[in-house]
Amino acid sequence: MYQNHVVQGEPITRELAQEELSGNLCRCTGYRPILDAAQHMAQLPPVRLDETDLLQKLKQLAHKGRGLEADLSYMSPRTLAALLAARAAHPEAQLVAGCTDVGLWVNKLHLRFGKVLDVSKVAELRRIEDYPRHIAIGAAVTLADAFAALLIDRPQLHTFAARFAGLPVRNAGTLGGNVANGSPIGDSMPLLMALGANVVLMSERNAQVVHREMPLAQLYTGYRKNVMAADEVLAWIKVPKATPGELFRVYKISKRFDDDISAVCLALNLQLDGEKVARVSIGVGGVAATPVRALHTEAALRGQAWTQATVQRAIITLCGEFAPISDKRASAAYRVQVLGNLLQRFWLESQGVQQINLESFTLEGESA
Ligand SMILES: Cc1cc2nc3c(=O)[nH]c(=O)nc-3n(C[C@H](O)[C@H](O)[C@H](O)COP(=O)(O)OP(=O)(O)OC[C@H]3O[C@@H](n4cnc5c(N)ncnc54)[C@H](O)[C@@H]3O)c2cc1C
Repeated sequence: MYQNHVVQGEPITRELAQEELSGNLCRCTGYRPILDAAQHMAQLPPVRLDETDLLQKLKQLAHKGRGLEADLSYMSPRTLAALLAARAAHPEAQLVAGCTDVGLWVNKLHLRFGKVLDVSKVAELRRIEDYPRHIAIGAAVTLADAFAALLIDRPQLHTFAARFAGLPVRNAGTLGGNVANGSPIGDSMPLLMALGANVVLMSERNAQVVHREMPLAQLYTGYRKNVMAADEVLAWIKVPKATPGELFRVYKISKRFDDDISAVCLALNLQLDGEKVARVSIGVGGVAATPVRALHTEAALRGQAWTQATVQRAIITLCGEFAPISDKRASAAYRVQVLGNLLQRFWLESQGVQQINLESFTLEGESA
C-alpha cells in the first residue's frame, strides 16, 4: 500500500517534497520556494490532527452513502459475485472506479447518470496476486499500488510511474479504469502491451460466472470503444514478470514533467539471443485512435542482429507505421519524429550510454 512518508516523521528531502506535492500545479511557476517551504516544514512544531473528530465525520458520510444505495442510484458491491450480479441486473448503470476520468464527465461535460455501479470496494478486484510467471492485478487496484507492484522486478519504471498524473490521482485512480477507459493517450496501455499483458473480462450469465481472457491489444475496437459486453466488467490485468536479460524501457513525452497527459508514449520490450533480437513487443500511445502495438516495427526487428544499422531501419518503419493527428499537445510531424528519436534513445541506452535521460540530470536547486 502507498505510504505517506511525511506523517511518519522521515526527513523531508527535495525528492520526497517533489513527489508528495506532485499533482499540485502552481500558476506562477513558484515551485522552488514551495519546495523550500516543504523541506523547512520538518523544523516547525507538528500540528496534530483530531483523528476522532475526522473519523466521526467520515462515518456520517458513509451513512449517507448507504441511504443512496437503497434506491439503486449508487451501488457499491463488496464482492466479485455481488458485482457481477449487479452488472447483469443493471447493464445500463455507469461503471465507476476511482472516478478520475468519470468525474470530469460530470463536472466538465455535465453528464448525469441514473445508476452508478462502483467497483472500487470489490475485495477481489483490489488484490494483487503473485504467480511464478506473472502478477495478476485486480482492476480496482489503485495506480499507485499497481505501479509499486510492477516496480518490484522492473525498477527502471520508477520515473514513468512518478509521471503518471500526480500523487492524488495515482492514489484514487485505478489501473482497470485507465485500461477500460481506453484513451489513445492513456499511459498504462502502451506499457502493458509491451509487457505482453492479458486482460480478463468477467460476467454472470445464467447464474454461471463466465470469463474470457485476451491480449490487451485485442480489447480495443476504436476510439474509446472496446469488446466488453454490457454485462461484463474488466476484472484482472495479468502482467508477465521480467525475464533475465530483458531490455525494457518506457518513455513519456509531454509538455510538462509532472501531471501532464502524454503527447507520445513509447514502451519497448526486447529479448536478445546472443546478438539477435529473439523477442520484441512495442506499445505506443498518442499515434492512433487507440493505444496500439507497433507490429511492423516489431517485425523489422525480430530475428535481426541488434545493431545501429538494424535500429536505423526500424526507425524508418516506426516513423511510417502510424498517421498521428496534430492537436494542442503536439503536431503530427513532432509525434512521428519523436517516436524515431525514442527508439534511437532505447538503442543508446541498451549500449550503456549515459546522460541521455532526465534522471541523469540534477535539477536547479536540488541538493547533490
Ligand atoms: C489531473 C489528472 C491527471 C491525469 N493524468 C493522467 C496521466 O498522466 N496518464 C493517464 O493515462 N491518465 C491520466 N489521467 C486519467 C485518469 O486518471 C486515468 O485514466 C485513471 O486510471 C482512471 O481510473 P479511474 O479508476 O479513476 O476510472 P474511472 O474514472 O472511475 O472510470 C474510467 C472508465 O473506466 C470504466 N471502468 C472503470 N473500472 C472498470 C472495470 N473494472 N470494468 C469495466 N470498466 C471499468 C468506467 O466505466 C469509465 O468508462 C488523469 C486524470 C486527471 C484528473
